[in-house]
Amino acid sequence: MSAPVVIIGTGLAGYNLAREFRKLDSETPLLLITADDGRSYSKPMLSTGFGKNKDADELCMAQPGAMAEQLKAQVWTHTRVKGIDPGHKRLWIGDEAVYYRDLVLAWGAETIRVPIEGDAGDAVFPINDLEDYARFRAAAAGKHRVLILGAGLIGCEFANDLILGGYEVDLVAPCEQVMPTLLHPAAAAAVKAGLEGIGARFHLGPVLTRLQRHGQGLEAHLSDGTVIDCDLVVSAIGLRPRVDLAAAAGLQTGRGVVVDRYLQTSHANIHALGDCAEVDGLNLLYVMPLMSSARALAQTLAGTPTAVRYGPMPITVKTPVCPLVVSPVPRGLEGEWRVEGQGADIKAMCHDAEGQLLGYALTGAAVMERLALNKALPALLA
Ligand code: FAD
Repeated sequence: MSAPVVIIGTGLAGYNLAREFRKLDSETPLLLITADDGRSYSKPMLSTGFGKNKDADELCMAQPGAMAEQLKAQVWTHTRVKGIDPGHKRLWIGDEAVYYRDLVLAWGAETIRVPIEGDAGDAVFPINDLEDYARFRAAAAGKHRVLILGAGLIGCEFANDLILGGYEVDLVAPCEQVMPTLLHPAAAAAVKAGLEGIGARFHLGPVLTRLQRHGQGLEAHLSDGTVIDCDLVVSAIGLRPRVDLAAAAGLQTGRGVVVDRYLQTSHANIHALGDCAEVDGLNLLYVMPLMSSARALAQTLAGTPTAVRYGPMPITVKTPVCPLVVSPVPRGLEGEWRVEGQGADIKAMCHDAEGQLLGYALTGAAVMERLALNKALPALLA
């Protein structure tokens, strides 16, 4: 049998690529390898699970066996790739070599972890996949108070969701506003006020220095001297694309695994997409870019080299207490911000000197205007 197309990773990037590929090629052997349990799920649902009262099994859309059948592929679960040997077109699982025709890296990004002093490090939960979510839900059962580290997009979504699920929530982050890299301050203030309105308590500025057990619960000590009583900690301080195995194999890496518009790494026959990929300088950790990449790469793998295009890619943030849509200003572009509205309803827009809309942040009722504004946005990769 000829060597298969091998995809490492069964997240949205891996499974969507396999799906798109099978639309074009039903014969080439296809193997998906994943370190996790291989269940198909939509990761964005992880930050709406408490509000909707859905456990990990309910968020699972298909078991790996069903995916294998649907994709006419093999799916190897709980199998970690340990090394890649581009020269011989093979990868390593322990001592076992697996040969590929083409290899696709769809191995995502990992949560950034910071060492925390104290005796309760095991009460800190990152939530970056379905298994993390299952672990956190099990630990949170019967508990009431959650401390969230990070006030970025994911931290704010979890805050909203956990409050909807009946939890008390504190957020700690060493920044002056929520979502500092994403949001105009006026929009950030609207989101923060919305979350405070349903009970979230923000501690912006300090960091967590020590976490220790105290009676039935935990004491979180912050760098400004504040002590917060809580039962569990969710870590949402950011993600780092997985690049180590690629770098060790001699592939070019930057923030992510460096690929061109054809999603090709610095080595022929090895491609990358999704959270791990830096596509023509852009490492976007969202669903829309990986869907565009999956469609283009499927064409390439099926014999029609196809460059990926990214149109405008606004992000809908799941903070229902204060609806938010944001389209960040593309890298390298600069403009001037103008803010309209007040309170919960903010329309912040950035235009360049010629009047071209570069980006926006819309909150509350202003999100209704997104479709009209999207038509005026520049493409991220034209
Ligand atoms: P992953 O889903 O992380 O998949 C990586 C895969 O690689 C896994 O199967 C893993 O087991 C496997 N793997 C890793 N290393 C190895 C190895 N060495 N060997 C074998 N297998 C390996 N984006 C949006 O656009 N909208 C949203 O509303 C949104 N909400 C989000 C909410 C949360 C809580 C989170 C965490 C993210 C959210 N995102 C959202 C981001 C979006 O979900 C991700 O961009 C996307 O799911 C990434 O998919 P991926 O397949 O690249 O990576």
